[in-house]
Amino acid sequence: MRLEEQGGTITREWCVEQDRGDPLGHFRDAFLIPDGLIYLDGNSLGAMANAAPAHVAHVVEREWGGDLIRSWNSAGWFDLPVTLGDMLAPLIGADAGEVIVTDSVSVNLFKLLWAAADMRPGRRRIILEGSNFPTDNYVAQGVAKARGLEVVLRERHEIADAIDADTLAICITHVHYKTGHINDMAALTAKAHEAGALAIWDLCHSAGAMPVDLNGCGVDLAVGCTYKYLNGGPGSPGFLFVAKRHLGAARQPITGWWGHDAPFAFDPGYTPAPDIRQFLTGTQPIVSLSLTGVGLELMRAADMTQLRAKSVALTETFIALVEQRCGRHGFALASPRDAAERGSQVSFTHANGYEIMRALIDRGVIGDFRAPDIVRFGFTPLYVRHADVWDAVDVLADVMDSGAWRDPRYAEREAVT
Ligand SMILES: *Cc1c(COP(=O)(O)O)cnc(C)c1O
Repeated sequence: MRLEEQGGTITREWCVEQDRGDPLGHFRDAFLIPDGLIYLDGNSLGAMANAAPAHVAHVVEREWGGDLIRSWNSAGWFDLPVTLGDMLAPLIGADAGEVIVTDSVSVNLFKLLWAAADMRPGRRRIILEGSNFPTDNYVAQGVAKARGLEVVLRERHEIADAIDADTLAICITHVHYKTGHINDMAALTAKAHEAGALAIWDLCHSAGAMPVDLNGCGVDLAVGCTYKYLNGGPGSPGFLFVAKRHLGAARQPITGWWGHDAPFAFDPGYTPAPDIRQFLTGTQPIVSLSLTGVGLELMRAADMTQLRAKSVALTETFIALVEQRCGRHGFALASPRDAAERGSQVSFTHANGYEIMRALIDRGVIGDFRAPDIVRFGFTPLYVRHADVWDAVDVLADVMDSGAWRDPRYAEREAVT
């Protein structure tokens, strides 16, 4: 039954019915979601695939323990950044050979911004969203300082107008980390190109959460994360994308031996690899890198159109339920109401957001808090169900109606929120 047919009132039964008809429903069994926990924080750290422990045991015991150094060849360790990049490519609208999995998002962004500065000599401005996840803006400030460039921070509606003939690149996050707002990749990229600037995109909150079409939008360079919606594990390496037309011309600055054309020739001089490998620097964290493949393998089996449809359904249901059941408690929707503009998360502002989130986590509903007043809930379509959405709001309603969040211990701040 569709929601409208029952007068717009959502019941738990309706939620369970949606889950029964969910073509992605079976993916939940591939993940460990501890009993009694409702996990709405996969946009910060994805859940563990059930296959992960055995995979790590294999890499550690057999490949490292048994085969030792031979595994660089026999287990494909040396090629892993490229192999995983090729697995990831179709999820983001890229081709094989354009993506590499390596290093952190921050480090990868440094490499790409540096490369971009060389590709647009004489231009000085890098435009970013001021309220973006800060590391991107910090890294841009570091590159700007070293290269004598200017970082220009603008909010979402001001970005297009800020692009001018002195702009070397825009560097925009596809889905905003706090609000879940989708920035228009096609339109902003076109606008940057019209002005002769490069378009760099950060896919941290969109890769694995919704369809992304880098080549369809003509994007030049991109970075993203594997430990959020791609379920690669804590601290799993990030990825970077360089459009084929720029490979060879784009050069990253941390010219280590893994980016050399012939790493094992041990030449005294640096000769850059002509392909995506030039964006590597040094020896990779093989255990973590290898684990990334487990999450990617699962994601590759999911249909992106179905994934997006489910994501929209989950976030719509959550917004409707919070407003239905907690409407009088002072929550204001901080995410776009129009699903077409919203990623796979929902945020509300609330003056007591921190305490409320602590009370929720204490009751087994895990979301997170982003200062100063945002409670944020991520809906990873691979493993979150409609019934989870119902149950989470049920707990939230109880925390609000009972005033349980007022317990003084919830006001003490922890290091990681
Ligand atoms: C999560 C996230 C990062 C993470 O950067 P790391 O260097 O991997 O810590 C960067 N940018 C954005 C927009 C993010 O959401």
